[in-house]
Amino acid sequence: MIRRPSTAPPPPWEETNNVSPTGRRGTEPKWLVLSPTPASSAPSLELASGCSPTSKKKRGAHELRHRGRRRRYRMRRALKPYAVRARVAGCGRRIASQVEIMKHAASGSASYRGLLMCGSVWTCPVCAARICAKRARQITDVVRHYRAKEPEGAVYLLTLTVRHGLGDELRAVFEGVAKAWQKTCAGAPWLRWRVKCSVDGYIRAAEVTHGFENGWHPHLHILVFTRDPLAFEEELGWLAERWQKCVRRSLGERHVPELFLGCDAREARDGNYIAKLGLELGSGDGKAAKNGNRSPWQIAHDVATQGESRDVAVWSAYQRATKGRKQLTWSKDARQMARLAGAVDADRTDEELLDEPDEDADRVLYTLTPAEWRIVQAEPGLPCRLLEAAERRGPGGVEQELRAAVLRAARRWVHPP
Ligand SMILES: [Zn+2]
Repeated sequence: MIRRPSTAPPPPWEETNNVSPTGRRGTEPKWLVLSPTPASSAPSLELASGCSPTSKKKRGAHELRHRGRRRRYRMRRALKPYAVRARVAGCGRRIASQVEIMKHAASGSASYRGLLMCGSVWTCPVCAARICAKRARQITDVVRHYRAKEPEGAVYLLTLTVRHGLGDELRAVFEGVAKAWQKTCAGAPWLRWRVKCSVDGYIRAAEVTHGFENGWHPHLHILVFTRDPLAFEEELGWLAERWQKCVRRSLGERHVPELFLGCDAREARDGNYIAKLGLELGSGDGKAAKNGNRSPWQIAHDVATQGESRDVAVWSAYQRATKGRKQLTWSKDARQMARLAGAVDADRTDEELLDEPDEDADRVLYTLTPAEWRIVQAEPGLPCRLLEAAERRGPGGVEQELRAAVLRAARRWVHPP
């Protein structure tokens, strides 16, 4: 047994006396006496089902997923000091008595249960990736369903922008853009246009980029479902004019865009529309913006890696401006289409999407005691490595990682760096 020096601070796992790093209580501090691995959780040569990389392709996909997750966890940790909202800063903190590692049978992926998820689709890389993955699945289902149902129809990706400049306040322009869209799709003229173009519904995504030369650039990407592509293309001029008119009313003359620069439509032929809607965070850095502008995830990446004060100021302004704002909205009929397509209810908020159990999460793979979780949380990168161990080697892999972490924590405590 190693005795703790009387002046040393308590080890990270110790909340009360005599709690071992594995959370077991006793009369002696037993944090180096590890219980034998139970037979049921012994390291297994057989990889977790659904996660067995039987082919190179599959192995590559797993590696890609792990790399993306590591990057997102690292970024979340690095962004915490710059978080404007306490909830975002506390994302990943334990809120249940125990933290569970869940196993997802179909995808082979593992995730935690019992932790706070901030639910910020704008500013938290971990929550955004989960929400966007679910939204992307919903939209892909709806588009596939629509194309099967309306072989003569088409899905267009409409991009609506406004003129912007240095010094524009993001919140004000963001709000103005949202109002301009509300005005565009309200009233009898809009209904007449919809009937003329046989529009069956639309899904709207808000997005913003930033450049030091031209400031904030909030804009909208809208997926439009139409049964009559020819009429839609012919009537696009009316929509461009109406957009100009509504921007003038909600933001003023200075922000009115040029006719067809402010309203661009192209057919969404491949899966590229998911990235355009801002729902792809595969690399962890998000999609790159154009013309020297940076996307929010690129700004976040620069803040996390370099922490320059001007980037921090931009990131703080962005966080304040996006607070409480919806990234994605569905028209009533698009929600109805989602229901028909069997997609998860499009009405659900981002928080509800995060809270709902994954349909393929079938069992608890491992339960971590509060003491174990304290050790896991104290070591950068370990929460992610534990999930990878769960996916690759099952409960035995988790146990192995934990044992190694306990030893490292003990060494750090006895010989502080
Ligand atoms: Zn979060």
